[in-house]
Amino acid sequence: MTLTTLGWTDFFEQAFKQVAKEAWLPGRLIRETKINFSALLDDGEEVECVVGGKLWHDAGCDADLPAVGDWVAIELGGDEDEHIIRARLPRKTCFSRKAPGKSSQEQVIAANVDIVVVVTDAGADFNLRRMERYFTLVARSGAQPVVLVNKADLFDQKQNEEAARQIRELMPGAEVWITSATQHEGLEVLRKYLKEGITLTMVGSSGVGKSTLVNQLLGEEWLWTGEVNEVTGKGRHTTVSRELVVLPDGGMLVDNPGIREVQMWTDEETLRDSFADVEELTNECKFRDCKHQGDKGCAIEAAVKEGRLNARRYEGFLRLDEEIDELSRRRKKRQMIVERWGKRNSKVKARNLDDRIQLERDERGEL
Ligand code: GDP
Ligand code: ZN
Repeated sequence: MTLTTLGWTDFFEQAFKQVAKEAWLPGRLIRETKINFSALLDDGEEVECVVGGKLWHDAGCDADLPAVGDWVAIELGGDEDEHIIRARLPRKTCFSRKAPGKSSQEQVIAANVDIVVVVTDAGADFNLRRMERYFTLVARSGAQPVVLVNKADLFDQKQNEEAARQIRELMPGAEVWITSATQHEGLEVLRKYLKEGITLTMVGSSGVGKSTLVNQLLGEEWLWTGEVNEVTGKGRHTTVSRELVVLPDGGMLVDNPGIREVQMWTDEETLRDSFADVEELTNECKFRDCKHQGDKGCAIEAAVKEGRLNARRYEGFLRLDEEIDELSRRRKKRQMIVERWGKRNSKVKARNLDDRIQLERDERGEL
């Protein structure tokens, strides 16, 4: 393994030269755990490292701090000492989103991803609005969008081609492929993109075939570490989330809970959007807590009776509310777990940081 295998280019070389002091090494962050990061060095060695005090202090916001996929300058500690991330190199691309809730904090999901593959199918998952959202996200990141219209074996060719055509029309720059993951066609397409040094990630609704593709790329059943167990709040392993893997046949893959959350978040919005007209009607219901099921003064039921609203759409809307409730219940629960973890993590990090600052002061003979 060399730095090139990991995606090192002239861009990073130049940036590194400007910041690096003697004995600092370039490394790429592949995993974030509760208290530190794992990085790969040019010889393929994996080291654990912590964010240096100055880097912490200089960060204006969370997004400035190192994230999985970032190239960093690492100062290796001695036998006893920690390895310290001294600098984060500028990002070529940055896959991020607004943090959930009211805060306008930006969360970096993964840095320096070259290609984002949006997976969908020509059947139930096909939704141009959702595609549009994904494209917006990808465009903002600076990565190249690639689309797989997967599960091609389940639909007739005309339907697949029509779906692909509509996506191309929506996003003329995107490369759109019709694939069947179960027939290994998806793998073939992904391999075209996964040249040495290229980092790829996959997004898309659940059930479209992402795990199938990931497993084929990894060549074996692979357990992503650190999936949070929603019942116990514990990770399946000791490490937590966010991983970048060097693939056996070249290229790298990022898969992490952040990317999976992007799906939930887009899907809820898309669901709501597709029934915006019915949602509008609820404003005219007599009671604010109208359940639209035999309630007095229900505007939706009135609209159905008068033929202004299709009865099937009305039924869909009733189910949709349940779906959205369920979705947000799951998301809230997840968010609570994540926040609880986050608080604990920042306490741990802060404690380490205080210790370190104190240590540095002691060394300099300050009080
Ligand atoms: P994910 O939620 O996006 O990770 O989707 P999965 O990879 O778990 O796939 C969901 C289901 O669809 C699984 O039963 C897969 O075997 C199946 N599946 C995935 N890709 C294809 C495909 O190209 N054709 C067909 N027929 N089934 C597929
Ligand atoms: Zn109502």
